Amino acid sequence: MTGIRNIVVLTGAGISAESGIDTFRSEGGLWEQHRVEDVATPEGFARDPDLVLRFYDMRREAIQTKLPNPAHQALARLDAAWKGELLIVTQNVDDLHERAGARRVLHMHGTHLNAWCTACDTRSPWTGPMIDRPPCPSCGARALRPDVVWFGEMPYEMDRIYGAIRQADLFVSIGTSGAVYPAAGFVRDARELRVRTLELNLERSQGSQWFHESRQGPASRLVPEWVNEVLGG
Ligand SMILES: [Zn+2]
Repeated sequence: MTGIRNIVVLTGAGISAESGIDTFRSEGGLWEQHRVEDVATPEGFARDPDLVLRFYDMRREAIQTKLPNPAHQALARLDAAWKGELLIVTQNVDDLHERAGARRVLHMHGTHLNAWCTACDTRSPWTGPMIDRPPCPSCGARALRPDVVWFGEMPYEMDRIYGAIRQADLFVSIGTSGAVYPAAGFVRDARELRVRTLELNLERSQGSQWFHESRQGPASRLVPEWVNEVLGG
């Protein structure tokens, strides 16, 4: 790929799904038999913290049994080899990009593997449960919550993401439906900035029309093919 120096990759549920991580579907409004507003909003947490903490304890435990797939591995290979700028912006709250070896990863929706202390605002690496209200490693307060961005909360590091898109020559969206803002708007911002745009998704998405090119298929096949093109060209 000639002329490409700076790349922004956006990844979503589709890339984790191929590692066996099911994610919430906005259409059904249910996530593992729970209503989204009960387990993924600040109001739900205020109403029933035990339900929410137990739900995330289960998710946190489950993702640690899953493994990166060839799509994660290909992006890690790109990260290691790419001399230009690269930012892998993920909407996923698992750590499969990192476990595949990628380093330039930004978790815009937070991560299951952090605890966020609402008393001192410190984020700490966290792999165990929170249901028994363990103390914050930093201040000792029993005020930890999952470091996951809920509906109604602001995604993380939007300035850094927009900055990277402004500098980019290529924006690639992988395994994301184009349904959830603000991520769904990145492609339009990229287009306005004359950044080339490519979609890799299982099926045509709600946002497909915005991309210069859209390829359909499983991420575990499309992403390694695309990374080979980029690194070979
Ligand atoms: Zn604290």
